[in-house]
Amino acid sequence: MTHYEVIIIGAGPAGMSAANILKDEKRVLIVDEYYHYGGRLLGQLYEESKGSWWNGMDVAKHLHDVLDEKITLQLETSVYNVEKEDTEFTVFTNKGDFTSDYLIVATGAKENSYPLPGWELPGVMTVGAAQVLTNFHRVAPGDAGVIIGINPLSMVIGMELGYADIEVRKICLPAENKFNTTTPKDALLTLMGLGRSAPTKLLSIPAVIGSRMSPFHGMALKLFPSKGIKALGLPLSIKERVIKINGRDSVESVTTVKTNSDGSVIEGSEQEIKCDFVCISDGLSPVNEITSLFNLKHAYLESLGGYVPIHSEQMETEVDKLYVAGNITGIENAKVAMLQGEMAAHHISGNEAAVKNTLKSITDERKNAKVKFHKNLDAGRDKLQLYWLAK
Ligand SMILES: Cc1cc2nc3c(=O)[nH]c(=O)nc-3n(C[C@H](O)[C@H](O)[C@H](O)COP(=O)(O)OP(=O)(O)OC[C@H]3O[C@@H](n4cnc5c(N)ncnc54)[C@H](O)[C@@H]3O)c2cc1C
Repeated sequence: MTHYEVIIIGAGPAGMSAANILKDEKRVLIVDEYYHYGGRLLGQLYEESKGSWWNGMDVAKHLHDVLDEKITLQLETSVYNVEKEDTEFTVFTNKGDFTSDYLIVATGAKENSYPLPGWELPGVMTVGAAQVLTNFHRVAPGDAGVIIGINPLSMVIGMELGYADIEVRKICLPAENKFNTTTPKDALLTLMGLGRSAPTKLLSIPAVIGSRMSPFHGMALKLFPSKGIKALGLPLSIKERVIKINGRDSVESVTTVKTNSDGSVIEGSEQEIKCDFVCISDGLSPVNEITSLFNLKHAYLESLGGYVPIHSEQMETEVDKLYVAGNITGIENAKVAMLQGEMAAHHISGNEAAVKNTLKSITDERKNAKVKFHKNLDAGRDKLQLYWLAK
């Protein structure tokens, strides 16, 4: 069994950034189950500020190109178990088992979706799948689509589809059922939160929908036209729900209904929207299967996307020499994930000055983030710190 000083699970921005810090002093193995390094960076493409673009593929390539031969990057290698005995970790993969002194888990996030009648038809996918098809594989998911689910990710990816000349015919809510209870008010509040943090063009959304009226959400909701609005080229409708996806062999249309402000359906408002693909989006959750294998406390924090391993600001966990970094610690953008990877690595190296500087950079990035996935993120992070201190 080959032994490394550090094993990193996940070659996304967090894992690769950690490896880059450690490359001069430790023997490091990074494993990733995908055939390409970069994790979720691969799909990301948007304008951050006028004329300045965030191109995830370029960022991933840069992170990869600066790795050196001390780092072993092993792709198509899926970790299915981890154990710790005395001071040594054993990482079990489909390509053999490895041991290490330190382990960094940077397994990222997964997408959530809504079950709906017709969601098994070819042409139905998550927004993340449409993002990767379009921006990484350069394959259009279709000519005209409908996005079901209103959240930061669906708005960002809706815009990205537009950059590729793929028409989005509607972004609206899913049918209300026991898996989905999102109301028009929830959607409105999400959009208002998005205005401060999303890529630049979306900053004008609050102006479009009237976030200055935030003390008067009820009124804003009433005034929101039931046919929806064009927000930055995206046909956005918070008072419309898709109740089924139609088609014989693949997606041909969706059926929607209009709702009142409280989400109740308006009788006789059924409408058919022709489309050849449908994206479903119910946000992101941390991928915590690996940390769940240890005797380690996790906390459920909605603002961080779900269950996250309790960890310190330096990315340590309760298990000695086990670190976490990136979206497994809560859903945030790629820049925060990269800094968290660096933080774990600096802490492993015992570089106190770098730990201090990186902590400041993380705080600054959180403050200025162009993509923020939850408006109460700071409160979630504060709570997590309390759990860590109380452990
Ligand atoms: C669909 C989707 C779209 C997103 N779009 C954006 C966006 O547009 N802008 C933005 O800022 N953020 C976006 N994000 C958030 C994104 O997760 C972060 O920006 C960033 O990529 C997180 O970095 P990470 O290194 O923590 O995880 P990831 O980038 O997700 O990388 C984790 C890696 O771990 C690997 N892995 C997981 N489990 C195992 C295992 N058991 N064995 C081996 N390898 C494993 C995965 O294959 C993956 O390559 C998106 C997330 C998702 C899921």
